[in-house]
This record gives sequence, C-alpha cells and structure tokens, in this order.
Amino acid sequence: MSRLFCIILSSVVISAYAGNLDTYFFNNSLRLDFVISGNNDTCSIQAIQWKIEPYWSGNPSSYILHNNAGDYLVMLNDLETGILIYQNGYSDLFAEWQCLKQQDSIFHYKNSLRIPLPKKDSRLRIYRTYNHSKKQLLFEEIIDASCAQKSIEKNQFRIGLHYLGNYKKNLDIVFLAEGYTRDEQKKFKADAQNMIDEMLAWEPYKQYKKSIDFHYVFNPSLESGTSIPQKGIIKNTVLRSSFNILGSERYLLATDSYLIRDAASLVPYDIICVLVNTDEYGGGGIFNHHLAISTKNPQAGFVFCHEMAHLLAFLADEYSDDTKELPAQACFNGEPLQENISNLMDFEKKWAALINGTDKEIGMYEGANYQKKGFYRPYLHCAMREYYHSYCPVCKRVIIEMLEYYTKK
Ligand SMILES: [Zn+2]
Repeated sequence: MSRLFCIILSSVVISAYAGNLDTYFFNNSLRLDFVISGNNDTCSIQAIQWKIEPYWSGNPSSYILHNNAGDYLVMLNDLETGILIYQNGYSDLFAEWQCLKQQDSIFHYKNSLRIPLPKKDSRLRIYRTYNHSKKQLLFEEIIDASCAQKSIEKNQFRIGLHYLGNYKKNLDIVFLAEGYTRDEQKKFKADAQNMIDEMLAWEPYKQYKKSIDFHYVFNPSLESGTSIPQKGIIKNTVLRSSFNILGSERYLLATDSYLIRDAASLVPYDIICVLVNTDEYGGGGIFNHHLAISTKNPQAGFVFCHEMAHLLAFLADEYSDDTKELPAQACFNGEPLQENISNLMDFEKKWAALINGTDKEIGMYEGANYQKKGFYRPYLHCAMREYYHSYCPVCKRVIIEMLEYYTKK
C-alpha cells in the first residue's frame, strides 16, 4: 500500500469546471489506469498511471451507489474521519474471462476507473465482488489531496464554456467514433442520431428524455471499419476495436481502456458508447465501462438498447446459448449479482416479491445466462433475451434505479 505522492497529469486535459464545489470533491475526475491479471481463482491490480480529467459529471446527490451492481466495488473514504464519501461498481473483461474457466492459464487486461477528485486525503479501495457475501480486496491507495490540488493549479484549468449545462444532474452519454475516416464524419453523426432516436423511443429512457444528454467525440481513423481477426481482417482504427473478443464471433469491444477514456474525457460523460463503422452484426456492453456497437447493421438500434442495459444497469443476458458453455456454478458460488437472473440460491434477493403481484406474467422461467437449465429469468420475453421485445418489468425497474442514480434532483 504505497502513498500516492504525485499524480501524473493527462495530456488530454483542456479545461475544467471550477464552480459549486461540494464538501469533498472537485469537479474533476481522478482516473486510475491499471492492469489486472490473474487466473481463474485469484487476481491482482497493478497501477500504471493516474490522470486528472477536466470533468466529473456524476450527480452530487448520488455519490454512493447502494446496489450490488458490478463485479468490482470501488470505495473511497475520507482519511481523517473514515466516512464513506464515494461508492460505485464496475465490471470488466477479466471477470468474464474468469467465468470461462480456462484451466492453467493467465489473463491480463488494461483497465481504468474514474472517481470524483477528492479535496481531502482519502483512501481508495477496489474489491473483486464474487457474490453477495464474498469479496476480495485487490487494491488500496492513499490519495494525497494537496498533491492533486497543486496539479490542478499548475494546469490553470479553465471553465469549459461548452459544457456549463446541467451535466451534473443529467445522464451524460458520449458517442466515440471508431472506424470512421476523415470523410465519414457526417455519417458518424447520422449513425449516432439513429441510436439516440431508437433509445429515446424505448421505455424507461423515454420518460427520462429531458434528463439524458448526448455528446460526440470524433477522432478520424486511418481505415474504415473494424478488425475481425477470425476472418483475417485487421484495420488501423483510432480506438482499436475488434470482433471475436474472448473467441466469440459476434463479440465486439474496444479493449484499450486508456485510449477510450482519453477520447471521452474531452466532454462530461457518465457512460461511453463506441460507435463502430461496420455492417458486421455484433456488439458488446460492460457495466460502467463502455458499449461497442456496429452501426450499419439493420438490427443496430435494438442491439444498442440491449447493450445499453449491460452498460448502464448491470443486467445479464436472459438467453440460452448452446455454443457457450459457461461453468455457471464455478462462477457463482452463490446467487449471481445481476438482478434479472437467479440460480435460486438466494431468490429472495431477486424479484420474488413481485411474483403474484399485479403483473401475473412475472414468474420463474428456466433458461437464462446462456444456460438452458439451472438459471431462471423473470419474464417470458425480454429485450435481454430476444429481438422485437422491450425490457421486461424487472429489467425496466433496475434501469430506472440507475437512471435515478444519475438524474436525481
Ligand atoms: Zn428482462
């Protein structure tokens, strides 16, 4: 546990919002870039660099996320008083890989997380959360606030006039262009607009329309499209996205977290959507990190909303998949954390209270989380299971909870 003496500043920092500071935080983000590595049973985090970003767009009324969302838990305590001043969760590809149970192998993954920049000395802890009762401390660091403050002064941050709106009390979504060349900027804007139109036509997003902001970051790629290693296609793109993540044909992500955070940090944002200029079907979404989506596919709008539920609300897939043999019990030595699936080990923590309520369709339907047997979902049809359906009432409820977290007045 080393003391953080100096915070290395981001080269992408261009401005900062300096008004209305609350008790514990500046209006900047403190970002930790790290590598997580390990095997099926254990893992560790090694810090690579710290960066200060111009914006913290989180809601000042919601510094503590109270639910169990995420494979990791982030806690920040004021050093002097011990008071918990910030708590959140996130997921990553490493946790997914651990579930695949590839014997005797080691995996490492570059990742990053952001917290609001503390004004006082604070203790940061990151835990791996395996289930409701088992968590492991992976990382602990004392953040020296005076060092952070000097770093801000040194950089003479200025208010980003462009973003003096209500980004603190709104959900801020940033679209990053990926695989669009210099000549394709208009296309990127049009593709982003299609995603926005689709999302805002869906409940519960529709009812939060006025509280959702969209931002765009366009960095041109040298080549159009994305990499598809299984087909021998490798493209030179700005965010280095790729299909075939973890060997899955349709799984598309931009796995260089430092690159996508650098791009996103130019605007206030809560969540990142990487729009990939390809007509190949696919996508991916990781809670509190990013989603990637192929924008030219006819199902793009639907897939966008499906992946959004992974990204925003830590919802699980409700479908079965014959090709994906997850060793479910190895991964879930207890009730899984996602709210829309259950293996009945502790069903009371899930939607049990809604059964026999006003909506008679809510029940226990076997087949979810890629498994035909042993995992249950709350509704016959749901966007987390199949096309042409909206979110089921349980998924909707969890998404509303997260929208409230971001937009509470
Ligand atoms: Zn559902």
